[in-house]
Amino acid sequence: MDDLNLARLASTASHEETARIMQICNACRYCEGFCAVFPAMERRRLFDVGDTAFLANLCHHCGACYHACQYAPPHEFAVNVPQTLAERRAASWREFAWPGPLAGLFDRNGLVVAMTATIGLALAVGLMLAMIAPHLFWGVHFGEGAFYVLMPHTVMAGIPMVISGFVILSFIIGWRRYWRTTGARWGGLPALSDAFRATATLRNLGGDNSGNGGGCPGADDRSSLARRHYHHLTFYGFMLCFASTSTGTLYHYVLGREAPYGYFELPVILGTVGGVMLCVGTAGLWREKRRMEPAVLSLARLGMDYAFIWLLFWVSATGLVLLAVRETGYMGLALAVHLGVVYAFFLVLPFSKFVHAIYRFAALLADAGEARRSAM
Ligand code: SF4
Ligand code: SF4
Repeated sequence: MDDLNLARLASTASHEETARIMQICNACRYCEGFCAVFPAMERRRLFDVGDTAFLANLCHHCGACYHACQYAPPHEFAVNVPQTLAERRAASWREFAWPGPLAGLFDRNGLVVAMTATIGLALAVGLMLAMIAPHLFWGVHFGEGAFYVLMPHTVMAGIPMVISGFVILSFIIGWRRYWRTTGARWGGLPALSDAFRATATLRNLGGDNSGNGGGCPGADDRSSLARRHYHHLTFYGFMLCFASTSTGTLYHYVLGREAPYGYFELPVILGTVGGVMLCVGTAGLWREKRRMEPAVLSLARLGMDYAFIWLLFWVSATGLVLLAVRETGYMGLALAVHLGVVYAFFLVLPFSKFVHAIYRFAALLADAGEARRSAM
């Protein structure tokens, strides 16, 4: 298995604890209707490192099985599935990370994100001030091409393009490591369709395996669909912002038109709607995270969760601020801050909570194939 260290994988405490707990759950099976994890667990008798990594990434950390569990602490079995899978999930992200020497960035991730954001800001502001006269930075610039008075398009777009190449390579290698370690098998187009549907509807955040339950429980044991709704806003908001950037690229290279575009043109409409959705979604996810039962949280990994939500919020919020002030003397500052946060976002992607999207989709795809094969 390329440079992946299986010995390190096998020795992780989080794997041992996950395997122990899955053995207990496999005998109990009380929670089998709660989510996709338990049916997938029931298809196994023993749990090797690949199995625990697969199950951990299939869990969406709703906490329902902790609230229902008769073997949760203070019972001597000390079963805490959400917390154990959260630890195993984070450990698996380190194990699949590429380049391997940078996997340590997953630790103390809040600090890493804060430092990267600072570097991104310094890079954007520094480049801008180095390339233009100060009066242009604070000047008022109108119409198409106004952004590029402050920073040439080749520099502004070139930096994220270079980072994107590294990010895509990192994701491809990470996916391949995940797929091989977990022994996942391609389940054909029907399984791909199942996985896309589960992703698009966030069915598993519905509260049971059908997606028709009452949602995720909070610390007071009451269930709510709020987490699913905020997740929807974040996911689709992100996709709209991506669509905005893509259409902007088409405008630039195909139509020969330069940003910023009019308020009612497609890139701006997509970006505005997506940005508002992202702001509301990430703020809501922050609130829902604080609402969770503390016992199910992985305290060592909490910084990573909050840091990524925070970064995503500011990517969208600074974009909206730029839209609001782009015809004033604050455009230079707003553009520099927005670019700095966007550069930081790209830089930190392979070593942030964003990898959850990659490995969760891989787990859903593998699970859909398994489920279809076992039903035959
Ligand atoms: S979490 Fe508890 S109740 Fe649910 S299957 Fe496992 S042992 Fe049983
Ligand atoms: S925390 Fe939720 S998603 Fe994870 S195993 Fe328990 S019930 Fe399933």
